[in-house]
Amino acid sequence: MILLYHLVFPDMTPKGTWNAGLVLRMAQFKRQILWLNKRYQILKLIDYVALYRNDPDLIEDKLAITFDDGYRSVVDLVAPFFESERIPATFFCSTRHFERQDLLWFVYFNALCSERSYNKISFQGSDYRLDARKPALETWRMLIRKARESGDPIGFADDLAQKYPLPPQVMRKYEGVTEEQLVMIAKSDVLSLGGHTHNHPYLDQLPLDAQIQEMAVNKQILENVSQTQVSLFAYTGGVYNHDSLAAVRSVGYDAAFAVNPKKTK
Ligand SMILES: [Zn+2]
Repeated sequence: MILLYHLVFPDMTPKGTWNAGLVLRMAQFKRQILWLNKRYQILKLIDYVALYRNDPDLIEDKLAITFDDGYRSVVDLVAPFFESERIPATFFCSTRHFERQDLLWFVYFNALCSERSYNKISFQGSDYRLDARKPALETWRMLIRKARESGDPIGFADDLAQKYPLPPQVMRKYEGVTEEQLVMIAKSDVLSLGGHTHNHPYLDQLPLDAQIQEMAVNKQILENVSQTQVSLFAYTGGVYNHDSLAAVRSVGYDAAFAVNPKKTK
């Protein structure tokens, strides 16, 4: 079994905080992992894959832990825990923020709708509420849907972010991993890095050459900064198509992962 986490929040995170509908606090996260650690052998993802390829029956009581997207705050919170418990974990990181100081497109929506820097947004001639938990969740769902439908979620979010920029303290809360963190992960004997594309597009909306570009730029930045080889990849949003499989091979990844794989053609 391979577990995928996204965000983990500090214990003092107030009750009622909304974050894509779910807030997992550090104390609860620790309890989950320590519970699992008693019942499963937690392996490095790369060892898990090797064992699986050798004989899928061997992984029944084995587990690997992964995080998608690469949030600075999450690495700060969980890395010391994994180090002190000697439990392996892999961080699949996007790298757009190394090129320009902004958030990944869906992270921007998440921050916009969770942090309530605005009471409402006007969009395509309609107003959408952000002033309470339920309407904010509806607005978030609408934005994710419209972004996917637009065929260019990154451009879609960029346009909205121009109109509704987020305050620096909100940006900081959701920003991507730092160079220092990548180096720290690469040097660790329990933590490891994986690729997750540069801009976090839906791969099935891109032609093959653009998919390769997204994967290659990301892999190169991660490898240059961390001075380590990155051989594992996680599909963004679990979405991929036939070209994505070719792209993964062409940039030199050894294995690629998706939760509920959504292969579109
Ligand atoms: Zn992701």
